[in-house]
Amino acid sequence: MKVAIIGAGITGLYLAWRLSLTGHNVTIFEKRAFVGKQVCSGLISERLWDFIPENKALLEHTINYANVNFTSKTAKVKFRQKMLVMSHAELDRYVASLAEKSGVKIVLNHKIEKIPEGFNRVIGTDGALSAIRKLLKLKEPHFRTGLQFFTEEKNNSDFVDTWPTTNGFFWKIPRGNKTEYGIMEEQFAAKKLLDEFCEKLNVKIDSLQAWPIPSGMIVSNNPQVTLCGGDAAGLTKFWSGGGVIWGLTAANILLKTFPNFEKYHQELKKFFAPIRRNTEFATRLGYFLGNNLPWLLPKERVIDADFLFFQK
Ligand SMILES: Cc1cc2nc3c(=O)[nH]c(=O)nc-3n(C[C@H](O)[C@H](O)[C@H](O)COP(=O)(O)OP(=O)(O)OC[C@H]3O[C@@H](n4cnc5c(N)ncnc54)[C@H](O)[C@@H]3O)c2cc1C
Repeated sequence: MKVAIIGAGITGLYLAWRLSLTGHNVTIFEKRAFVGKQVCSGLISERLWDFIPENKALLEHTINYANVNFTSKTAKVKFRQKMLVMSHAELDRYVASLAEKSGVKIVLNHKIEKIPEGFNRVIGTDGALSAIRKLLKLKEPHFRTGLQFFTEEKNNSDFVDTWPTTNGFFWKIPRGNKTEYGIMEEQFAAKKLLDEFCEKLNVKIDSLQAWPIPSGMIVSNNPQVTLCGGDAAGLTKFWSGGGVIWGLTAANILLKTFPNFEKYHQELKKFFAPIRRNTEFATRLGYFLGNNLPWLLPKERVIDADFLFFQK
């Protein structure tokens, strides 16, 4: 089949590579002049290697646990899977090289403004502000804002620090020669909260980058044009905003059901609806206990890094 994929992010590149390996004729249209996600912490569970061939050269760092710093208690959250820290831009370029080697055509500087014609299937993997989602007249996901910046502080620890806020959290991530700070919060609150937080920690904000973090589950009802993600479909983890593994997981559901998009839409809902509901509930409950009844919260807990514990 002739397949058009809109957006050369991790979800689109992975889908293109896998579809091409099974004999489809795949073209990716990317609006920017280059491949490589700019605003992302690059904290991705080792499940990544279940999707793409392991590439140790990408690895900056490994994280074993997170400190969740509530006002009067710090809870230690250990991850069942190791968390890898890497440059998301490098990861995208690596998957682009796999895709190109398997015959995928990546067309840069090509912004899609209407559904492309002449293809048997069109897949929108065009991120948080998806044009395909708008063209299909689907509802918009809920958006929070992600803000991130780096300091020159060297940091090689094997944990991240987080500080819950009302609708998100602050983070501090070791990045070897640097330290990354950031926040995910409602759009109107994020910058003000980050300013206050950094003043308290005496950290100077420099070269702040911002990008929307969607959440929801936006499913197409078109038999030839769909969304996959990751961000186009609003499939990000409620607790962290992380979208890489969820995007790849959605892509695997699409691959399993391809070219039947009706089946894909059914399977996607069946798989992700309970995960989304339960993880939002678990996050809100954890935050409520941590802030209001901290003695009820265990000091240490092991969790599935991607909240995919319901996966069969
Ligand atoms: C501050 C921040 C930190 C984050 N940290 C993490 C993290 O640590 N771990 C994690 O898993 N996730 C993290 N995320 C989320 C993660 O970056 C995204 O979920 C993930 O990159 C989504 O991948 P995607 O392929 O769906 O979309 P994207 O990577 O956004 O790719 C979409 C592509 O589509 C292109 N495009 C858009 N519109 C068009 C158009 N009309 N025509 C052609 N091309 C178009 C874009 O240029 C882009 O290249 C973070 C997000 C933010 C904002």
